[in-house]
Amino acid sequence: MEIVNKTKHTYIVRLDPGEEFIVAMQNFCLENKIQSAWLFALGATNGITLAFFDTGKKEYKTKEFQEPLEILNLSGNIALKDNKPFCHAHGMFSRADMSTIGGHIMRCVISATCEVRLEVGEGAIKREFDERTGLYLLSELS
Ligand code: ZN
Repeated sequence: MEIVNKTKHTYIVRLDPGEEFIVAMQNFCLENKIQSAWLFALGATNGITLAFFDTGKKEYKTKEFQEPLEILNLSGNIALKDNKPFCHAHGMFSRADMSTIGGHIMRCVISATCEVRLEVGEGAIKREFDERTGLYLLSELS
């Protein structure tokens, strides 16, 4: 992972082949003391695990795809979960025949490259477990 441009509140970073997106972003935010951010990305992957949250069962159903895919659009955010930067991201991906798949990203291994814009917020935001939804929701920093 390499920072290719940095301004006061924005980083443009490049991920390289073999890097896993969620882990790389969480490590990057930990190293750079980022506790609140929104991110956008595009690129290519050859292995993803997507999830769909069943609101009735309050659990994620996951599915793995091991094939070359374009990352058409990936958006997400960074907030503190158990005091550590946590990346929540959703993505749209396309196959060679241009058909698309998408979902909540559990894992996304970069193949050629991934180009990320990270907009850093001021201070921190956090996630707290919510009984009603069964999810860790964004919540005010207490
Ligand atoms: Zn999600």
